[in-house]
Amino acid sequence: MFNSLSDRLTATFKNLRGKGRLSEADIDATVREIRRALLDADVAVPVVREFTAAVRERALGAEVSGALNPAQQVVKIVNAELVEILGGQTRTLQLAKTPPTVIMLAGLQGAGKTTLAGKLALALKEQGHTPLLVAADLQRPNAVTQLAVVAERAGVPVFAPHPGNTSSADGETDTIIGDPVGVARDGVAEARSKQHDVVIVDTAGRLGVDRLLMQQAADIRAAITPDEVLFVIDAMIGQDAVTTAQAFLDGVDFTGVVLSKLDGDARGGAALSVAKITGRPIMFASTGEKLTDFEVFHPDRMASRILD
Ligand code: GDP
Repeated sequence: MFNSLSDRLTATFKNLRGKGRLSEADIDATVREIRRALLDADVAVPVVREFTAAVRERALGAEVSGALNPAQQVVKIVNAELVEILGGQTRTLQLAKTPPTVIMLAGLQGAGKTTLAGKLALALKEQGHTPLLVAADLQRPNAVTQLAVVAERAGVPVFAPHPGNTSSADGETDTIIGDPVGVARDGVAEARSKQHDVVIVDTAGRLGVDRLLMQQAADIRAAITPDEVLFVIDAMIGQDAVTTAQAFLDGVDFTGVVLSKLDGDARGGAALSVAKITGRPIMFASTGEKLTDFEVFHPDRMASRILD
């Protein structure tokens, strides 16, 4: 990821090498190049606008310092702005004062929620926690089985619904089997009674944002009052990241973002837009299909990687 953006920015900075002092025209030309590189990487337009305005202002106001040449100074400014749009500080999970910590996962179908549930459970287990996974995605027949497989790989238990009770939805979506809100609530109760200190609730996603799905996620949220709601987003979705993230923010609200499929060749727009647009921090990154392909997201390290 970010290869093309990285190359473009590096080339832009190279043009500044050897310059003694940057004129306003140099700065404007540089900012134009940065703007084009960000837009080509699918970064959302309002984010690009704010980013380039901030870089321009800081570059114009930068003191000529003995320690850094102008090119290095611009790199430093761009780095600081990248850290800023990526959310600034690293943000880790807020654990509940009284266990269990309830974590709900939300996002479109295929975003990587179920995989993430296993990754998070494994990471928490390795830190000494005792997570329980809850299968409240009853939309796809396979989802419960898939979560059970992931739970087994992570070596953690799973709470799944009993088959049999069905209810139908309106014409907008497929029939929902069972009661996802009830399953989520029962799962959290199970975690409490069996003394699991963390409970991770997987919820249904559809291929596109849909009203019923959003209502279901909002109902689950209301029923289990999670400590964290993690919105999982596929980094490959490019410009759609903004509308999808906004729809989940309005429909469910979330406390943090997980970027999945960062191992792919996405241009990076989703990663660079979502924290700024939603005002929610990116907390984790998913970097592959294995349960260990998972890391805490550090805005400063990601910025350095882009500018490397
Ligand atoms: P869900 O529908 O949101 O629960 O998504 P899944 O967890 O089922 O993931 C959808 C597909 O993406 C599966 O084939 C996963 O193996 C794959 N996947 C999930 N996370 C990653 C990731 O970080 N990198 C890659 N390359 N594939 C992933």
